[in-house]
Amino acid sequence: MKFEIHSDTSFINEGFLKKPTWKIKKAKIGECDSYEVFYSEDPDFKLDSESREHQKDSIYMEMAKVWSKNSRCKRMQVGSLIVKGKSIISDGYNGSPSGFPNVCEEDDVTLPYVLHAEANAITKLARGTQSSDGSTLYVTLSPCYECSKLIIQSGIKRVVFSEIYRKPESIAFLAEAGIEILRKKQ
Ligand SMILES: [Zn+2]
Repeated sequence: MKFEIHSDTSFINEGFLKKPTWKIKKAKIGECDSYEVFYSEDPDFKLDSESREHQKDSIYMEMAKVWSKNSRCKRMQVGSLIVKGKSIISDGYNGSPSGFPNVCEEDDVTLPYVLHAEANAITKLARGTQSSDGSTLYVTLSPCYECSKLIIQSGIKRVVFSEIYRKPESIAFLAEAGIEILRKKQ
């Protein structure tokens, strides 16, 4: 079997672990300081929080956190960046689509038209000339199922997040698609 559950996945809620359909190969392959690697296809992956790549992850995650402050959503502000090579090629935060009132909730319930931060960052690229193929997505909250589908189809190869969404099964879904998944806690 390609995917198997690692026994010490205490960070993921019980609902996820009990769900046999969503198994994840080596749910956590390493942890150091504020850094966790949930899944990597690279057999030589070395966990080193001092590495240049991980330092960049920290900086981009901080930037995504700052960017989330643009959101008008009251329940949760989420920020996202898409990085390819050395460039930020797109950004997004959760909010309403263009032309709609800039409110996210009604009676404390999120409105159905609200776009998530990563969906905004991915769809922004559809208007431009940059391609997300092979890029890294930074998002302050782990992607939901709907956004995970967009991530897979847009060719994003790496997802770095900070907080875990209340429905974490989509983390396994991304892993199953061969996307490297890392958590950079803040
Ligand atoms: Zn989403």
